[in-house]
Amino acid sequence: MIRRRQTRSFLLCASLLPLLLSSSAARADETAPARDPKQAVNEAYTAKIQKYTTAPVFTSPLVDYLPASKNVPTPEIVLGDVSGAPGILPYAEDVYKYMRLLAKATPRVRVFSIGTTEEGREMIAVAVSSEENLKHLDENRARLAKLADPRTIKLDDAEADRIVAQSTPIYYITGTIHSPETGAPTALMELAYRLAVDESPYIREIRDGVITLITPVVEVDGRDRMVDLYRWHLAHPKDFYPPLIYWGKYVAHDNNRDAMGVTLKLTENVLNTYVGWKAQVLHDLHESVPYLYDNTAGDGPFNAWVDPILTDEWEMIGWRNVADMTKFGMPGVFTHGVFDTWSPGYLMFIAAMHNGISRLYETFGNGGADTEERTLDPQDYSRTWWRQNPPFPKTLWSQRDNNNYEETGLLTSLHYFNENKRLFLKNFYLKSKRSITKPTEEGPAAYVLPADDPRLELQTELLQVLQKQKVEISRATASFTVAVPAKKRKKSRKKEDAKDTNEKEKEAEPTSREFPAGSIVIRMDQPYSRIADALLDHQYWSPDDPQKTPYDDTGWTFGELFNVKVFRITDPKALDAAMERISEVKPTGGVQGDGTIFAINNSAEPALATLRYKLRDADMQAAEEPFEAGGKKFNRGSLIIRGVARSDFDRAANETGLHAAALSAAPSVKTHPVRAARVAFVHTWLSTQTEGWWRLALDNLKIPYDYISTQVVAKTDDLNAKYDVILFPPVGYNTSTTAIINGMPRDWGNPLPWKNTPETPNLVGKNDSTDDMRPGLGWDGVAHLQSFVGKGGVLLTATDTSRFALSIGLADSVSLGTSQKMNIVGSVLGTRLVDAASPIAYGYDEKFSAYCDNGPIFTLSSIAGGRGSRRLGGHSTSRPTGRGTADDPDFTVGRPGIEVPEEPTAELWEYPQVSDEQRRNGLRVIPAAGRARVILRYADNKDLLVSGLLEGGDEIAQHPAVLDVPAGQGHVILFSINPVYRGETRGTYSLVLNTILNFDNLNAGRTILEK
Ligand SMILES: [Zn+2]
Repeated sequence: MIRRRQTRSFLLCASLLPLLLSSSAARADETAPARDPKQAVNEAYTAKIQKYTTAPVFTSPLVDYLPASKNVPTPEIVLGDVSGAPGILPYAEDVYKYMRLLAKATPRVRVFSIGTTEEGREMIAVAVSSEENLKHLDENRARLAKLADPRTIKLDDAEADRIVAQSTPIYYITGTIHSPETGAPTALMELAYRLAVDESPYIREIRDGVITLITPVVEVDGRDRMVDLYRWHLAHPKDFYPPLIYWGKYVAHDNNRDAMGVTLKLTENVLNTYVGWKAQVLHDLHESVPYLYDNTAGDGPFNAWVDPILTDEWEMIGWRNVADMTKFGMPGVFTHGVFDTWSPGYLMFIAAMHNGISRLYETFGNGGADTEERTLDPQDYSRTWWRQNPPFPKTLWSQRDNNNYEETGLLTSLHYFNENKRLFLKNFYLKSKRSITKPTEEGPAAYVLPADDPRLELQTELLQVLQKQKVEISRATASFTVAVPAKKRKKSRKKEDAKDTNEKEKEAEPTSREFPAGSIVIRMDQPYSRIADALLDHQYWSPDDPQKTPYDDTGWTFGELFNVKVFRITDPKALDAAMERISEVKPTGGVQGDGTIFAINNSAEPALATLRYKLRDADMQAAEEPFEAGGKKFNRGSLIIRGVARSDFDRAANETGLHAAALSAAPSVKTHPVRAARVAFVHTWLSTQTEGWWRLALDNLKIPYDYISTQVVAKTDDLNAKYDVILFPPVGYNTSTTAIINGMPRDWGNPLPWKNTPETPNLVGKNDSTDDMRPGLGWDGVAHLQSFVGKGGVLLTATDTSRFALSIGLADSVSLGTSQKMNIVGSVLGTRLVDAASPIAYGYDEKFSAYCDNGPIFTLSSIAGGRGSRRLGGHSTSRPTGRGTADDPDFTVGRPGIEVPEEPTAELWEYPQVSDEQRRNGLRVIPAAGRARVILRYADNKDLLVSGLLEGGDEIAQHPAVLDVPAGQGHVILFSINPVYRGETRGTYSLVLNTILNFDNLNAGRTILEK
């Protein structure tokens, strides 16, 4: 599915149909795709296939019939009709029931349970192959494991060839990760039947030559909700039906952006299955554009870390797929397209990053099983060089058409894959081998995470991600030293200048680096070095890249986003260091020393918040200044804890991974209490996509909250009675204030219930419910939020909800700048701490990185109503035109010179000084105490880009990134960065958690300078 969703549609003129009849030409040199004349056809099923296919060109000789079987049931047995029949969408449970009936009826099918979802629903993988192949799965897996880890055969190419010749490859197909894309499950049910039953040579070759592995439903929680909604729609055919606001428990289509962080169960289960089976292909099925877009061979830029062997495979398979289906006469089959292959976050990329082949189809779907007339956008039916036989501008489209395309594409792919399986298996081996020889080929040799990192708990979390990715992790048993290559600088145009600066810099830079014992080494001479390299390296997307619309994030460097030190080491000597493999990464926390008072250094580790809620009865204080105790240095914000038994505290420190010191006496330092705030988490009924990542983070940290909608805010007069902190995370898609307040239109249409009913038993799940999704926050809700803050509450907003807070007047001293050319597409940017004494900044260093996706540009003004725009237009500091040189004073003829008063200047993250003129009857001048406290700002433009794409960065450089705005007795916290995102930004979580922990002391350390 497309990131920024567009309405795409389409409808076929009936008069065109006779011109477009398909013809299936047999290839002389290969097995023809045609049914076995000796095998009986299931006539009734076949008749229905024909009936539900809306035009003869929308089918192929592979799927326009169904072979008959005496003992193997067709999908009709659970669907009550054929696959793709109108009005029929099976629940996951029914799909599984059918797959298990198949397994019972034929030795050519086996079903494996591969785990459960967040809501406890099962996920399965169905293996379809010859009886012989399924009997010897384990032996075959042992062979494939040798190809997957060529160290086991000493990188011996001849031995690899022998193994290749004996092995059966595994082609893994995954369906319906995106819940409104509904066609895959029925297509995959029928595909499994065909592969098990069909005796035509074309299918038999696939069955004998390949093990097809199928997960028919990836997002099982979302599938069941989607089927509920579709049933509701069938029961209320004339009404609008509720949009699918929740898919899985946490996120919607971002579930296909989790293959880096592996935070969702579905990602973990598919990854374990893919790697565990030693599969060669992961082929993920989606629906959006007509009729079949094989975006395996996407547009550039390609991910920099994939092996070129893979990018060639993409082209081979992709274009061959187009060619095969074009020969069947099926219109609208294409590859290349608009998708770029940069981000490795997609589910299919599990294969690309683990030496396999990633593939993805977008087929056409109606978001349900209705047969509908669809009208396409010109961009979707235009003929381009990569789409020579485009879709029709208009057509009648059915779920059966979708299933025909999906199955035909898969069968031709499987057949081609089987014909060339020696090549692909050898490539699988070669890609694995090249992953192992990485240190001596392209490098680096290793990544090192030093043992003296102040954030060992976050380091553990990063290592746990790598472990989920099956990366081997080692720990140095002694200190070691590696060479650090000198950085190459751009040469200055003037030769003499270059000489000067180069020599100076060379002297200053170290040529070696020592790492202490206990440091973590991620060796690059291992089969899955590729994924570690892709996650830990930096990304650079040139603003001059011909691709002007990045499909997803352009930067993701995990060390930066986790605020963990990671060193890329090119010196191969790193691999000679004494080290041992770590079988399981565990938290390293604990308590040192004796005493009844415990102190934990604050290094902005999220687990501090976990500890606060875990030890609810403990007295916790935050130090407002750095201090020393028990021979250790503690940062500002460090916790001093009393009233917990040692054994309880030991356990808590171990579980959270925090390092504590037991002290016999309390340090003498100013403190304030750290209380377990009562937290409300507000969502809209417009979208829950982006806030879902915040829920996931809080749940993982075991921080309790009430999950309430904007409708509940509208109905709750006294929010302060229940809550201390209201989190209003991003709605997503730059949702407007109007939409947040108004919700969906109510002047027409019908109520849109989101609740469990007999028709919709799975809708609510672990989320929220309402009788009508349409009402928004409303003006009552706005008033309640204003009152909450006025009476002392803390409202925390980010990106679009920060824009919302500004537009309802909650932060008078902040306005939104406009951008002309700024383009920051999911990038990692540099930030600088401005006010280290603010509790929100506790534990952070002066410099760290944050995730930004065209965040709002906050501009400060000391004049209420935003009338205090900068004099001289902000950047202009040059003198006016006149006599003399640039530094000279001007003059006026016939008059003595006058001393020009110095123009007050302010940095972009500071409030411009209020002028004497503004102070005259200055009723709009906001007193210093009423202005925002700037906690964090974006770095200067030259230091702004850390990873990804940055264009027009000067428009946001130096502007505030996090603001604490006093409002009445309370605070509004505004984020321009998104601090909680896809499980990837754990280094910035504490900016949110610090706000929660210090909700009633946010003014601690504040200095107010009236000027
Ligand atoms: Zn999709």
